[in-house]
Amino acid sequence: MRKIALHIQILIGMASGLAFALLSVKLGWSTSLTTNYIKPFGTVFLNSLKMVAIPLVFVSLVVGVTSIEDVTKLSRIGGKTFFIYTATTILAVVLGLTIANLIEPGKVIAGQTRDRLMTLYASEAEQRGETVQAIQNQNAPLQIFVDLIPENLVASMSKNEHLLQVVLVAIMLGIALLRIPPRKSRPVVLFFEGINDAIIELIRFIMNLAPIGVFSLVASLLVEVVGDSKPSEIFEILYALLWYVVTVVLGLVCMTFVVYPIMLRLFTRMSYVQFFKGIYPAQLVAFTTSSSSATLPATMERVEKHLGISEEISGFVLPLGATVNMDGTALYQGIAIVFIAQALGIELSTTAQLIIVANVVISSVGVAGVPGGAMVTTMILLQALGIPAAGLALILAPDRILDMCRTVTNVTGDAVAAVIIASSEK
Ligand code: ASP
Repeated sequence: MRKIALHIQILIGMASGLAFALLSVKLGWSTSLTTNYIKPFGTVFLNSLKMVAIPLVFVSLVVGVTSIEDVTKLSRIGGKTFFIYTATTILAVVLGLTIANLIEPGKVIAGQTRDRLMTLYASEAEQRGETVQAIQNQNAPLQIFVDLIPENLVASMSKNEHLLQVVLVAIMLGIALLRIPPRKSRPVVLFFEGINDAIIELIRFIMNLAPIGVFSLVASLLVEVVGDSKPSEIFEILYALLWYVVTVVLGLVCMTFVVYPIMLRLFTRMSYVQFFKGIYPAQLVAFTTSSSSATLPATMERVEKHLGISEEISGFVLPLGATVNMDGTALYQGIAIVFIAQALGIELSTTAQLIIVANVVISSVGVAGVPGGAMVTTMILLQALGIPAAGLALILAPDRILDMCRTVTNVTGDAVAAVIIASSEK
């Protein structure tokens, strides 16, 4: 019998998760049934992916840097990566702002609905505000730079949120290995290469769990969202925010399915059909996990094995991208800020919007590739722009769904960059 391809299995998993959730809500099964017996499978899958994220980032960056071999080539590839990541993020925010200004989703929200949402989500928004306050209290203006260098590597490797520090140390170690005599660096590099291959093999095992994991994640997410509240209430809120949701999704679709294909067309010889065929299982994982870091193993596997990009490039570009390049998040933040301002009746001048572009581009580097990672930075941005941060309450309800969508764009953006850089190096 022919084995069903993995990505088809993942799709089936997703559809079954949706069907299960509908059935569970319809037949009034208790939420705890799903939480106790379905959700754990999803958690196991998610944890397995997260478990390999840090070792994968560290080892693949060391191998990536050392396999580039000469420092000139490394700085060339590094420069290109920096350029593409910055350019696509700017493009994403500008696209987001343009669409938000055209559709004006904040102006159609009724005053009544706005007030209701503000009360309903006030405490949640306040909680995020406290996190922001705590960060701001301990932070000096240059704290971001100070935070880049860990005082203890082992400690920073123990937390997925500290991925940026791990990235930096791995790149520095790679460069150091390039500079010492090959007689000494060779065994170390071979050691890392061995671990790298073993991790990739491990990922292959884990990805075999994806269909079940995806089923369980989709089912439990939906059942828990509907949970104890009435479905009609959820629909009411979603309906009130429909224009906002439509605006964000439209922006993400444009970025993913129009802007990226144009870039592929202009800068590579790969057709977008080939690209999407190769990458889409990773997009499905991104959609269900809402986490670029957790999706990284799948992204790397797809880009190397199915898009034919060398380990040298993907090992450098992708771990970096999963940590710092968030086009979907940047686009979303642009729209969210304009939406909140419009809903609260605040006019944003062109200068204010340019300030948004600059701020979003810089802050998106600090967004952690985890579910809801963008929330804290969005709040900081609102405060920086003088928009009441309590306005965040307006966008919390549909955030989980939008998070799933923007993570797909985040991951796709990294893969596009890898393909472009690889073809420019040929
Ligand atoms: N969940 C997103 C990611 O992991 C980050 C965010 O936008 O919240 O890429």
